[in-house]
Amino acid sequence: MTLPRTPSFRLDGKRALVTGASSGIGLASAMALAEAGAHVVLAARSLDKLEGVASEMRALNLSVDVLAMDVSDTAAVSATIASMPAFDVLVNSAGMAKNSSAIETTESNFDAVQGINVKGAYFLTVAVAKRLIELGQPGSLINISSQMGHVGGIDRAVYCASKHAVEGMTKAMAIEWGRLGIRVNTICPTFILTPLTQATFDQPDKLAWIEENIKLGRVGRVEDIMGAVVYLATEASALVTGSALMVDGGWTAG
Ligand code: NAD
Repeated sequence: MTLPRTPSFRLDGKRALVTGASSGIGLASAMALAEAGAHVVLAARSLDKLEGVASEMRALNLSVDVLAMDVSDTAAVSATIASMPAFDVLVNSAGMAKNSSAIETTESNFDAVQGINVKGAYFLTVAVAKRLIELGQPGSLINISSQMGHVGGIDRAVYCASKHAVEGMTKAMAIEWGRLGIRVNTICPTFILTPLTQATFDQPDKLAWIEENIKLGRVGRVEDIMGAVVYLATEASALVTGSALMVDGGWTAG
């Protein structure tokens, strides 16, 4: 009898690009991929912050480079990616929130959030996929979406609009590129303690709302996302595409 063997959770010899890698979930994703053996290119707007992260990662013998990238500048992003060796793995973690009631939403806040969370992720994903398609290579493209891509939330109309859009484009791209072996998925975290959410956690009424809704009874930490990133990036998830992996402590189950 031939026993089935667990597919590899390793990424040795693979190249990964992570946006928003200077902080929070992006930094954790970069660490997870590098620890799984990938060469990771850390991208964000500030090279200073990225250099600090890169030197700490190199001290652990992890293989990294840095890349200054503003994902809202889609023309520059496309040109940069077209000029680089292809990436086997992409994690779109650059993101922002401008939380307010729907009635108080300004047009400039709406445009800023959509410009990064949707448009930025969209055109970077396309640029990375184009290189893979040119070379006839497979790949795994991961969008850090949110539980708010599946449900609504207080003061979150703009943010929810952006993450529901990320869920939609993920499915459409997964269909388009499936036969080419390019997989596209989302990870949907609940509230994770990072600089993005610190202000929300600092408000007692919001913290109570969060703790009440997370069925496992605790808020998230960036480490909670790392296994999901490795799973979706590797052969372990070879038949998974167009999917949303909820890492939400049960928020959307209730
Ligand atoms: P964070 O603020 O710690 O990190 C965001 C990163 O994005 C930073 O490195 C920042 O420099 C980068 N960034 C912002 N604008 C950019 C731009 N124009 N170009 C390039 N980089 C840019 O936030 P985080 O909590 O780690 O969030 C990462 C992602 O996870 C976001 O997409 C966010 O919506 C999503 N998310 C976060 C939570 C949470 O609770 N923290 C929950 C669900 C989803």
